[in-house]
Amino acid sequence: MTAMTQSYAGDGNHTTSYYAASANASPERPQLTGTHEIDVCIVGAGYSGLSTGLHLVEKGYKVAIVEGARVGWGASGRNGGQIVNGLNASLQTINKRYGQDTATFVAGLVQEGGEIIRERIKTYDIKCDLKEKNIFTGLTKAHMRELEERKALWQSYGINNQEMLDKKQLIEHINSDLYEGGLIDHSGGHMHPLNLALGEAAAFEKLGGTIYEMSPVIDVDHKAERPVIKTATGQMVCKTLVLCGNAYLGHVVPTLAPRVMPVSTQVMATEPLSDALAKELLPQDACVEDIRYILDYYRLSGDKRMLFGGGTVYGGTDPQDVKAKLLPSMEKVFPQLKGIKVDFAWSGNFALSFSRVPQLGRIGGNTYFAHGYSGHGVTGSHTFGRVLAEAINGDLTRFDVFEKVPWYPFPGGRLFRVPYSVAGSWWYSLRDRLGV
Ligand SMILES: Cc1cc2nc3c(=O)[nH]c(=O)nc-3n(C[C@H](O)[C@H](O)[C@H](O)COP(=O)(O)OP(=O)(O)OC[C@H]3O[C@@H](n4cnc5c(N)ncnc54)[C@H](O)[C@@H]3O)c2cc1C
Repeated sequence: MTAMTQSYAGDGNHTTSYYAASANASPERPQLTGTHEIDVCIVGAGYSGLSTGLHLVEKGYKVAIVEGARVGWGASGRNGGQIVNGLNASLQTINKRYGQDTATFVAGLVQEGGEIIRERIKTYDIKCDLKEKNIFTGLTKAHMRELEERKALWQSYGINNQEMLDKKQLIEHINSDLYEGGLIDHSGGHMHPLNLALGEAAAFEKLGGTIYEMSPVIDVDHKAERPVIKTATGQMVCKTLVLCGNAYLGHVVPTLAPRVMPVSTQVMATEPLSDALAKELLPQDACVEDIRYILDYYRLSGDKRMLFGGGTVYGGTDPQDVKAKLLPSMEKVFPQLKGIKVDFAWSGNFALSFSRVPQLGRIGGNTYFAHGYSGHGVTGSHTFGRVLAEAINGDLTRFDVFEKVPWYPFPGGRLFRVPYSVAGSWWYSLRDRLGV
């Protein structure tokens, strides 16, 4: 397949992750060939594209999704699986930068993505090992103050699902000496991310949606009244185009390229742990992330593997040896895991926006986009998919608020994005080391 050899997605097959190895059965979809017309064309079959598409077919729209690789090939099929409420940027930051009205608006939708995911799982009977609760951990007193502030702030917006855990209480959830304490969100959770994406794709198709796979879009005309996308073997003309390629869209749409930067992060999966060891390490089976900039995130899979993530490479390149990179961090949290076998290790890209607030907007009259969840997109992509579907269906109320949120290009332009952010990464890790 000549088109694929040139693609951002290599041969288009899923990365060698635990998720791909334990994926539910899913059909291979056809490539886009020839010329087609459709009401709504979506580029990208990750959560953003699938969520938008599913909301639209539920409303009766004719929708096609054009995916450059396989459904869930991008971040959505290889992430930490953590259903974390909120955006990467805190409500406090949003309030300070964009004002009280925007912060109140955002507070009103930070729980929504998790609710959509649970509703999808229930309505469409998606088997994806859903488990409840997530914990943010703090390693220092300063982190604990930050968590206290976060809880108080969320409470001031009427969100009361969170509870502080001191060191002793935390041990009942995470059997590690590393932390000062944590904050548990009873409305968070975790799941098998690829199986969620595959289940959403199946629901979309059952309601009449079409998915093309192995069809990288190489040209986008978003200025035309009826936008057109082209692949090596076909094209799609549509009334409305939605671009959901996120970190992998690259420079296919030059207007969008400077808005986000690809950043890679890594995950590994140990061999299945014994019931006793799994219970000893994470007795309540919640998922965990610490609140450093360069953070660790981990959880137990459905078959009790430790799925441990971390690391950040600005610019989106993959480290040579993911396992060697993550193993010391895992053993620092859980020395009990020394000597355990690692079965899978992989890397993937998320899209960082400079402000760490996701972006949603319109280029040209009939082309929409959503991207830049900055590493916290499992819930955000589901919410933004719904907001995009509302806008396409004529209700712009929520879309307009987000479209107006200012965005900033990465300083120094495209050429300097990586060096600038490497400096940023150094600064963040220094802050982590100093505990400020
Ligand atoms: C390793 C890792 C761990 C993460 N862990 C978490 C977590 O635990 N919790 C959390 O909230 N967030 C996490 N994230 C972030 C989260 O996964 C993403 O924010 C979210 O999945 C973004 O969804 P998306 O649909 O916008 O993008 P993606 O899932 O990346 O989907 C984009 C799709 O577009 C396709 N595409 C791109 N360009 C083209 C083109 N030219 N033609 C056709 N198709 C194209 C790609 O193939 C891809 O399938 C993690 C990300 C990574 C990489």
